[in-house]
Amino acid sequence: MKQRVENLFSEQLNEWADFKERTEQLNCLELKEFNFGTHRIIAQFNPARAVSTGAKLDAKSIAERKCFLCRENQPDVQRGIDINDRFCVLVNPFPILKKHFTIPLKSHEKQEILPYIADMLDFAKLLDDYTIFYNGAQCGASAPDHMHFQAVTKGQLPIESDCKNAKYVLLSENSRGTIKELKNLGRRCLLIEANDKNYGLSLFRQIYSQLAFQKDEEPMMNVFCYYNSEGWHLIIFLRKAHRPSQFYAEGADHIMVSPGAIDMAGVMVLPRKEDFDKIDRKTIADIYSQV
Ligand SMILES: [Zn+2]
Repeated sequence: MKQRVENLFSEQLNEWADFKERTEQLNCLELKEFNFGTHRIIAQFNPARAVSTGAKLDAKSIAERKCFLCRENQPDVQRGIDINDRFCVLVNPFPILKKHFTIPLKSHEKQEILPYIADMLDFAKLLDDYTIFYNGAQCGASAPDHMHFQAVTKGQLPIESDCKNAKYVLLSENSRGTIKELKNLGRRCLLIEANDKNYGLSLFRQIYSQLAFQKDEEPMMNVFCYYNSEGWHLIIFLRKAHRPSQFYAEGADHIMVSPGAIDMAGVMVLPRKEDFDKIDRKTIADIYSQV
């Protein structure tokens, strides 16, 4: 599967000029790194993300647009490969990171993680060079009406290394897996580590049930999953809000920032140059504390 995904990426680069151009632009993006001692945040100036960052995500706006994850609305040049019987893999035509894929469900069903969490663990093992991630419908998904995961090659997200060194409180432990609450990362974060898939799933479901205060409403979360020789690692960011006050502010206080999963993992995407120029440690810390 890894080889087929690699092939898809290089074939789409050859046959899809816009995708190639946006992929090459990633190499020239301006970055600023902020070291908080216990963790790193990388600010990325990415003008191509303006549409997505500023997008209207209310139910009416979503219902009125054509769903770009449904096959019939995709450009002819876009191709996908099946990763299991329910999901396929596509290149992300608006990448934020290198080798950035979208893994949509093959039918138009709402974004929710609980029915698909086992698929996520399967994909992490199948694509063990990649980190798989999930954006909650209310906290980062640009298609909240169509279930999808995303994947990027490992090593691009600061949280992957920061979570290994973080201080933590152990919430659950036995020989098959643990739950840790990570400390001092500037945002709420839980880490499940499990060498047994079913046990890892049961730990995730335990956490989910503790967070699901309202019936039929998914707790706001961004979830990352990667697999290595020690097993599965699930990083869960608990969200309070999608957008911080700066997004709604006017004038000099306005910052166009809509933190989704990638931002929570330590790459803050800023589509406007003036925001990128003025962003500082204090504002970054404030944005994370709000969301
Ligand atoms: Zn759709």
